[in-house]
Amino acid sequence: MNALEVKNLTVSFLMYDKGIKKKSLQVISDLNITLKAGEIHAIAGSSGSGKSLLAHALLGILPKNAVVGGEMSWFGEPLTPALQKKLRGNQLVLVPQSVNYLDPLMRVGKQICKDKTTAVETLKKYELDEKSAGKYPFELSGGMARRALVATAAATNARVIIADEPTPGLSPALAESAMARFRALADDGAAILLITHDIDLALRYADRISVFYAGTTVETAAASDFRAEELLRHPYSKALWRAMPQNKFEPTTGTQPYAGALPSGCVFAERCSLRTDACNVRPTFRTVREGEVCCHHAD
Ligand code: SF4
Repeated sequence: MNALEVKNLTVSFLMYDKGIKKKSLQVISDLNITLKAGEIHAIAGSSGSGKSLLAHALLGILPKNAVVGGEMSWFGEPLTPALQKKLRGNQLVLVPQSVNYLDPLMRVGKQICKDKTTAVETLKKYELDEKSAGKYPFELSGGMARRALVATAAATNARVIIADEPTPGLSPALAESAMARFRALADDGAAILLITHDIDLALRYADRISVFYAGTTVETAAASDFRAEELLRHPYSKALWRAMPQNKFEPTTGTQPYAGALPSGCVFAERCSLRTDACNVRPTFRTVREGEVCCHHAD
């Protein structure tokens, strides 16, 4: 059974337009993802592709003017606002992007676990010594605070951990070490949703990767499919592959369309060399070669 399942998720924000008139700005459309227990599922995509909004929608912490549509489920049960509230912070945990999420007025150890021994043991796994437990967040360096954030998630018995860009600011060795901890948590049965810009990191640690573009899932593939361009299905995933330094280091021309200015057909059409008249109609997410893709012409 899937730990989390998201089907055709939409997120819009109601905003004031002119005077008291309101307009709706859709920022996520047709977003699909499944997360299994025991796996690291990475979400890759550029800024503005909807990665962090998905995390906030799953946790039920979007701003009040957000309107959410589509289906989200938790181990087969509808993920309602009441269930989100019950799970949040214990079974469903966020490792946020910013270290500002640490409480500035509480010692680090207390934020990890009320039991001091457990807190110290957990911190040690992240190369933080016993003294760190007694410090306030402002007394830690940026890298130490980030490791403390990851440790707060590791100290829970979470069934699902959403890690939103957990490694920026860490040295390569510490980033590897943090990812190895996530891998160990997944191997112990947790489901990890890893939101990242760093495809290289995702390739080394994730089991599957979903590629987001302009608020839509364009492809979900096994991480091993990123070994070769021809194993991928969507033209944007292939463009990401070609842009990687170890591949062709070839930039993709054009820019991702803004929310509010999305085409009615395929969101990637403007940059796609394979587009045909059929692409004027929005493609649906479908299974192709044991992966999933949102493209009329993928095979
Ligand atoms: S649907 Fe058409 S425009 Fe969109 S990615 Fe596929 S081929 Fe390109």
